[in-house]
Amino acid sequence: MIKTVRDVDLAGKRIIMRVDFNVPMKDGVVQDDTRIQAALPTIKYILEQNPKSLVLMSHLGDPKKDVKKAQEKAEKAGKPFTEADKEAFINGKNRMKPVAEYLSKVLGKPVEFPGACLGLKDKIDALSNGAVMMLENTRFEPGETSKDMAEQEAMAKELATYGDIYVNDAFGTAHRAHASTATIAKFMKTSVGGFLMEKEVKYLEPMVTNPPKPMTAIIGGAKVSSKIAVLESLLKNASSLIIGGGMAYTFLKAQGHSIGKSLVEDDFIDTAKNLLSKAAEKGVKIILPVDHLGAEEFSPDAKPVVIDGVDIPDNLMGMDVGKKTIEIYKDTILNSKSIVWNGPVGVFEFEAFSKGTGEVAHLVAEATSKGAVSVVGGGDSVAAVNKFNLASKMSHVSTGGGASLEFLEGKTLPGIAVLETK
Ligand code: ADP
Ligand code: MG
Repeated sequence: MIKTVRDVDLAGKRIIMRVDFNVPMKDGVVQDDTRIQAALPTIKYILEQNPKSLVLMSHLGDPKKDVKKAQEKAEKAGKPFTEADKEAFINGKNRMKPVAEYLSKVLGKPVEFPGACLGLKDKIDALSNGAVMMLENTRFEPGETSKDMAEQEAMAKELATYGDIYVNDAFGTAHRAHASTATIAKFMKTSVGGFLMEKEVKYLEPMVTNPPKPMTAIIGGAKVSSKIAVLESLLKNASSLIIGGGMAYTFLKAQGHSIGKSLVEDDFIDTAKNLLSKAAEKGVKIILPVDHLGAEEFSPDAKPVVIDGVDIPDNLMGMDVGKKTIEIYKDTILNSKSIVWNGPVGVFEFEAFSKGTGEVAHLVAEATSKGAVSVVGGGDSVAAVNKFNLASKMSHVSTGGGASLEFLEGKTLPGIAVLETK
């Protein structure tokens, strides 16, 4: 287990802490504060220990990429994109100032904002006792994400002078080996996690090491290519593997079924076959859809057509799982002691095709109320759980999409690997 802020003496120390305040912004206004709220317990705990100072750092969007996208969008629309437009865009989307102000409001305490990320050592050393400072977006500095390690280390080394203790509570960015998320720890004597990081590790780790059995893994979403590593990894401990969503059709095709116009990755048919035979060898039960809700076109207004069997007619595409499939899910999920869920089992964004994913959310919630441990990870799966108002009924809903996926793939996350363990 990682060491946390609870395991070190913070009194009188300068704390440099990485948070994930990459919140959605519009016109310089925070649209959703979930990520800020998620880091508050750690921030409050640190402040209660009377540190000398607490300096917070985070990225906010990806300024370079975001500007490029906005520029392309303007060009497509035939509009000019001037330097002033660029500045306005950055101020509306990538500056940390409104986030610092927001944090100040929820903390009920001033949060200093120096408007920069580097060159602040003297300012930080001169902070009054117990002061909080939020740095400017770390991704304004090329060193943050630089592939040139010397450049990245130069930035990390400077950030390291801002604190005596490094705290990482940014689980959502823990899969990135960046200056503020991992490399900084090379230059720190003490590096520990926050409570959010602790909770993520506590729930995710057993799922790839030794979960309560029987374990069911529910993997859905659009593409086999993005989920094959997690499928392989969960195969180690799962008793049942539910494969749903768009990726299920590549598997059904691999089994020789007709899949009509459904989403398919022909390059991954062999990969799918391979996984199916590995599962058979290990005695893992693979659950693919046995019936579907289909449509003639991929559209929110498409008319749902019941397909009462595995094979899909040529004029239709599979958009959601059918009733018989849900019955199989029910039997499997309610008899599990642990459940990992990543990826919706249908096009849940379209009302007419959201039923299967809604049923899965309800079944996982019910299993959890009966004592199973449930972990939901992945951007769209978390959105689905929220859509059905069931987040509080899960044991753990991960705050990191990409990070939780890589964790479940069995990878070592750089932002966690640098933390001390106990
Ligand atoms: P997550 O973000 O939870 O990891 P993914 O990004 O892999 O999930 O996949 C989510 C997407 O998969 C959703 O946008 C959803 O519409 C799509 N999807 C699910 N089922 C299907 C389907 N049958 N056909 C096409 N797309 C699907
Ligand atoms: Mg997604």
